[in-house]
Parts: sequence; structure tokens; C-alpha cells
Amino acid sequence: MSVLDEVLSANTAYAADFGSKSELALPPARGFAILTCMDARLDPAKYAGLSEGDAHVIRNAGGRASDDAIRSLVISHKLLGTKEWFVIHHTNCGMEFFTDGVIRGLLANSLETAALGDAGFYEVGTGPGSAEAQYIDWLTISDQAASVLEDVTRIKAHPLVPSTIPVYGYIYDVTTGRLSEVPAASAA
Ligand SMILES: [Zn+2]
Repeated sequence: MSVLDEVLSANTAYAADFGSKSELALPPARGFAILTCMDARLDPAKYAGLSEGDAHVIRNAGGRASDDAIRSLVISHKLLGTKEWFVIHHTNCGMEFFTDGVIRGLLANSLETAALGDAGFYEVGTGPGSAEAQYIDWLTISDQAASVLEDVTRIKAHPLVPSTIPVYGYIYDVTTGRLSEVPAASAA
């Protein structure tokens, strides 16, 4: 069975038991948003206790406060009424294992999936690649607490973000499932 078949089969079972979720309102019922990493080990619904309709979850590589993440957060508040936001990065994030220079070099050589060894990602594919990676800021991470602080600070300082919105900074530990506050970020 391909992944497509698995997903469609799971969806059939989910929809068959959809129940009262058909009546959920558009604005998040619990009035908050989480910006976090796309890492497959993180399930915000589970680690933060969310049900359908509760909160906005905005995800990207690293959980970074990119222009597009800020676009979503601004919509989340301005149009859909969220009043508290979380920025949650995590331990052992893939974004710690390369730099802009590394991914640009890899993509210039090949578009195929690279391998990850003790010394970081390395090329195992064949070309052609593309120089287009030079034009993307990959928002890599060298220190989780620093990246949380940087992103919370950027969000709070953004001209489209009201100063009344608390933005909490946390790191999720992939070995325990626990959230730890980055106090400097929450206080930013
Ligand atoms: Zn990550």
C-alpha cells in the first residue's frame, strides 16, 4: 500500500466518526496560537493538549519567525482573535545540523536527498542541482535558546503585532516530551 492509500484510508475512518466537530467555529476556541517546528516527532495537539478547533498551529522548518509565519500570526490575531502566542523550538532540531552555506552547496550539486552523518549532511545524489538556493534565507539554528529569543523578539517588535499579546518562548525536549521555558524570551 502506498502512503497515498494509507492516508486516504485513515481519512475515511476519521470522517466516519466526525461527530460534533462539524459544528466547530472558525476562530480558535481557546484563543491562542503556537509557532513550532515541522519535525515529525513533535505533535502539538498532544504536547499542548489541543483538540480540533482549539488553537492555531503554525509550522515550518525550525518553528522560525519567518515573514510567512508572522503573516499567519497577524491573521490569527487580527481576524481570528487569538490573544496569546507560543514560539516552541526543540532539542535535536535538524536546523542545527547545517548552515546556509551547506544547504546552498548541497542543492547546487543535486536535488536528491542528502545523507546525515556525524559531521553533518553530505551529498550522495547526482546532479543537476540549482543555484536558486542562494536566494533563500534558510533560518538555520546554532543555539535553541538563542533562536527562541531571536524569534520572540522579532515577533514582539513587529509593527503589525500589538504590544498586548504575550509571546512565550519554550523548548520542547524530544527525549522527554517536556516543554522548558526560555525565560529571556518570555521576558523580551
Ligand atoms: Zn526542528
